[in-house]
Amino acid sequence: MANLGVMFKFSQTDADNLAQSASFYLFLHFKNSYWMEILELKGKVHDESRQGEAFLPVQTTGETYQKRFYIESYGCAMNFADSEVIASILNTEGFGATRNLEEADLLFLNTCSIRDKAEQTVRKRLTEFRSLKKKKPGLLIGMLGCMAERLKDKLLEEEKLVDIIVGPDAYRSLPDLIAEAETGQKAVNVLLSRDETYADISPIRLDSNGVCAFVSIMRGCNNMCSFCVVPFTRGRERSRDANSIVLEAESLFHGGYREVTLLGQNVDSYYWIDEQTNETITFAMLLEKVAKISPLLRVRFSTSHPKDITDEVLFTMARYDNICKYIHLPVQSGSNRILQLMNRTYTREWYIAKIDRIRELLPMAGISTDMITGFCTETDQDHRDSYSLMEYCKYDLAYMYYYSERPGTLAERRYTDDIPEEVKKSRLHEIIALHRIHSLESMQRDVNKTFTVLIEGNSKKSDTDWHGRTDHNKVVIFPKENYPLNKGDYVQVHIHSCTAGTLLGIINN
Ligand code: SAM
Ligand code: SF4
Repeated sequence: MANLGVMFKFSQTDADNLAQSASFYLFLHFKNSYWMEILELKGKVHDESRQGEAFLPVQTTGETYQKRFYIESYGCAMNFADSEVIASILNTEGFGATRNLEEADLLFLNTCSIRDKAEQTVRKRLTEFRSLKKKKPGLLIGMLGCMAERLKDKLLEEEKLVDIIVGPDAYRSLPDLIAEAETGQKAVNVLLSRDETYADISPIRLDSNGVCAFVSIMRGCNNMCSFCVVPFTRGRERSRDANSIVLEAESLFHGGYREVTLLGQNVDSYYWIDEQTNETITFAMLLEKVAKISPLLRVRFSTSHPKDITDEVLFTMARYDNICKYIHLPVQSGSNRILQLMNRTYTREWYIAKIDRIRELLPMAGISTDMITGFCTETDQDHRDSYSLMEYCKYDLAYMYYYSERPGTLAERRYTDDIPEEVKKSRLHEIIALHRIHSLESMQRDVNKTFTVLIEGNSKKSDTDWHGRTDHNKVVIFPKENYPLNKGDYVQVHIHSCTAGTLLGIINN
């Protein structure tokens, strides 16, 4: 493996805040407007987030490259995982990564379309590349991912700076597209595929801590929630070969990793048939296969759709200590009328029954959600229904957004985006304030308890403290003292106090 250093923008302050707050949807990193947009993100394993994180250079082999690429990643965890696949494809073709913009011959933005703000953030970043291109005329700029897929070659008209456009299913063609762009032509491939899963590609890790990694288990989404652009930008749902998933997780474990997060837009609908044995592998079976790799390998997953998570999955979680007791179960709204308009295919009562079932079978589980305020036609009563649902569920974590109409979605075609922005935002602030109370209560409940913590590295604030997470996905900071521990080790930590996002403890020997 060659010397890699793919750069994701990630400020130290954001990293600190995140690392020291609770769980992750997918280790997010937000900047400026992005923070404003998401408003409440204390680390989320999945998506929307880690607006950057550096690939630590994998060992230097002394290889030299003709060309260097620089990549920044925006949006959800799937995008971050994709950037690792892209880095691998480029590396195999002899392109070396750099963290240094000035040194790069190729600049890539792996983009997100989920809300308008996400696209604006990327467009703003693009303008910052203009001066670089002036200084270095041969420099090529590529837009990858969901924005590339949504806008296709229209993006070339709107953003003259861009030379290469590649959608999420076309990354294998990137080396050819680079060659085409080098001849002075604009190069575009936004073909979606029904079977591409990049199963055979060994991703180059976003090696930020060497302990936790994402493993993509499926791509696309068939759900057609009316507000969501994902089915249009990422195509039809398809599940990856289970054997390749297990091999990837095994190889991570043997490489020192101690936590894998199985990623997909809707992991519970994972479904793969082994043609050799004719066996059908469900998500619960896949979870079990990965959990069996080693009791020392923690397994997480994201995201679960409330309509698809089964008792079988919950029983499997209960059976294996190393499957983390944490479920991200986005509800989006607490109003049956709005849920129907959103095409979520469950009711408030169904959702509450799922929460009750999780708490019955996995009493210690952390539960998080996503909520949208101000969806088309949302009344005060609908909003109160969302509020009261949150009062019932008392989420450990919540990722809350105000509705952003996305071109081409069912909602854009069928309904009017009729809730004024100030109403959307004031409703959002109300649910954020409520959630703050719940998340603090959730942290306080853990004080005076002892947890097994996986050490992920030094605390960002002090090299004399460790930073790790509990199984139910809460960040713990504790003094190293004189114990001979390393990142990747498990340790018992007694919690003596907490902040709104972090548990503070002491090693319990
Ligand atoms: N498949 C996952 C799910 O169903 O939760 C993730 C989907 S999306 C990447 C993450 C979250 O973004 C969604 O759960 C939803 O709350 C939010 N989201 C999606 N489209 C949105 C929109 N148009 N406006 C505001 N929030 C949106
Ligand atoms: Fe979007 Fe719904 Fe699919 Fe999630 S499940 S990606 S919200 S369409």
